[in-house]
Amino acid sequence: MTALRGVGPRVAEKLKRLNICTVQDVLFHLPLRYEDRTRITPMGSVRAGEQVVVQGEVDLAEVKFGRRRSLLVRISDGTGALTLRFFHFNAQQQSGFVRGRHVRCFGEARNGTVTLELVHPEYQLVAADATLEGEEHLTPIYPATEGVHQLTLRAITEQALQQLERGGAHALTDWLPTRLESQFRMTTLPAALRYVHRPPPDAAVELLAAGSHPAQQRLAYEELLAHHLSLRRLRQRAEHTPAPPLAGKQQLATRLLEGLPFTLTAAQTRVIGEIRADLARGHPMARLVQGDVGSGKTVVAACAALAAVEAGYQVALMAPTELLAEQHFRSFGDWLAPLGVELVWHTGKLKGKARAATLEAIGKDTAAVAIGTHALFQDEVEFARLGLVIIDEQHRFGVHQRLALRDKGRAGEQRPHQLVMTATPIPRTLAMTVYADLDTSIIDELPPGRQPVKTVAIGQERRDEVIRSVQKACTDGQQAYWVCTLIEESELLQCQAAENTAGLLTEALPGLRVALVHGRLKAAEKESLMQAFKQGDIDLLVATTVIEVGVDVPNASLMIIENPERLGLAQLHQLRGRVGRGSQQSSCVLLYQAPLSDNARERLAVLRETGDGFEIARRDMELRGPGEVLGTRQTGEMQFHIADLLRDEALLEAVEAGARQLLECCPQNVAPLIRRWLGEAADFGEV
Ligand code: ADP
Ligand code: MG
Repeated sequence: MTALRGVGPRVAEKLKRLNICTVQDVLFHLPLRYEDRTRITPMGSVRAGEQVVVQGEVDLAEVKFGRRRSLLVRISDGTGALTLRFFHFNAQQQSGFVRGRHVRCFGEARNGTVTLELVHPEYQLVAADATLEGEEHLTPIYPATEGVHQLTLRAITEQALQQLERGGAHALTDWLPTRLESQFRMTTLPAALRYVHRPPPDAAVELLAAGSHPAQQRLAYEELLAHHLSLRRLRQRAEHTPAPPLAGKQQLATRLLEGLPFTLTAAQTRVIGEIRADLARGHPMARLVQGDVGSGKTVVAACAALAAVEAGYQVALMAPTELLAEQHFRSFGDWLAPLGVELVWHTGKLKGKARAATLEAIGKDTAAVAIGTHALFQDEVEFARLGLVIIDEQHRFGVHQRLALRDKGRAGEQRPHQLVMTATPIPRTLAMTVYADLDTSIIDELPPGRQPVKTVAIGQERRDEVIRSVQKACTDGQQAYWVCTLIEESELLQCQAAENTAGLLTEALPGLRVALVHGRLKAAEKESLMQAFKQGDIDLLVATTVIEVGVDVPNASLMIIENPERLGLAQLHQLRGRVGRGSQQSSCVLLYQAPLSDNARERLAVLRETGDGFEIARRDMELRGPGEVLGTRQTGEMQFHIADLLRDEALLEAVEAGARQLLECCPQNVAPLIRRWLGEAADFGEV
């Protein structure tokens, strides 16, 4: 890096924060957007709101002491005059604006008091005879970091591009076979890079801004390919990794199913079959089960668990929240304990003797099934014979966590099997790319007799009406949720606000048994409240979004969601999935606060129109982007330089095909290609 001009050890250190360590990294640090500074606009024809480059002479510079001290510089070019306004400036800057000096500025014109103004423009003092030519290219704006300015980034990309052109020591290898390039009629790699860093003045600006210029698409394709290949490589590795074969007569599962009050749907049976086939092999399963809310994933997981237990191995079941872990502990307890299977429960809140006892049971193999939160995977938890890891609601866990878990139960060379379950369906093409390390099963059928949840949106001004309908429903023997979605930063404030709501509702509904659950309750309290609700001892459960995932109370048939406009579609769909679990008609009231933004209105409309999780996921992605939908923003994985999963969805099929070709014709290119785009992080999974 330091071979580049202007990059000393200090700058090199800062560039590392942008993941730029080599000249190649410089080339792959791509602009976020572009500005057009190729033409110099005569001042007389500048309009308010336009971004312009102007060049002219300083007429006057003065410091004004108004409400805010500011430096005003009047400039003119014979066609008109403009004022530059600076609020932050130093003496050196001030003294540079000498009457008669020439200056070139770039900024957005706004209406000012006397003339149009450029507030804090970028500017450069130039010679009096400076040409009136603009920049040669559109000006790239790069992702920057503190202490590394656009000018620095432009200077070093310039050098890297020159090296690329000379094809010297740092020439870039094109890892894609030419066959692929011609097939997709793609620009060559150096040409694409040059174009993206320095688009010509006549470039299609709209295409560039949208990221859909062929040069950008060429790079996006390569990036998606690299991601896809890295996940495929993980899967290949699994083929060479041993795992305990968990095959058996399935006597335990058969007994479980015989004891259930319902029969499995065809989809559940099929998915259980797919899981059993995986488990019987001597390599670790990595399977994603997608099934809409209420499709019955829990019993599928229980059957998988029993296969492991029957083969003499332990099972770890991890849920994203304590409440959900408790609930699973209870369902699994009801189902598995009668079969003589020992279960334990473990979360971060477990303390003292109880904790020690749990850890011992896990370590000595007296507990066959451990259920809990991610606390299960902390260092002090040591499984004696872990054979299967089940992760519920996987969109909350990222790829890195998934991989860390795979290593948790390793015994010598062996790894445990892994089953992940999600209620957030992911469109197929997307799944191929981002979950290429997993096999997928889909439970595409709901248990019979379910009726879609009737959904209405009602404004807060009709709150009283809504409260009366809760009154009526509960008097008729139904049960209801009232969900408070609060934006307060701290959990404490959220809980207080929920307490207020619960208080007001208790007052407004004197005949009903109202209870409150929120994140700050002790696990045991939460658990006993949920139990009471399940048994019908509570009519109205006021809750924060802690009930979002997995809570299962079939008799609850009415849900009020306050301020649904604050939540994403997937989250709302999850919440709504808490009702409509029994056979009676259920309803959901979206009690919104007017006025709604367009986006919020659209989100609520989607929810009213459809109950299909796949359709909702698709619309959610359009409205919010895949990063949010996949929950990757929180986990920081799947960050792309240039690709965008939604925009580039059309490329995904070609990515799959390209991956196959590349693996066939030049497998040796795979590793360097992955390293180019993902850096060393690509080797997650390598232990
Ligand atoms: P999810 O897929 O959202 O995790 P659950 O596993 O919680 O769904 O199941 C939702 C409800 O449906 C539970 O009460 C469960 O016992 C019940 N259930 C599961 N499978 C069936 C089935 N085949 N027929 C009837 N009810 C079922
Ligand atoms: Mg569930």
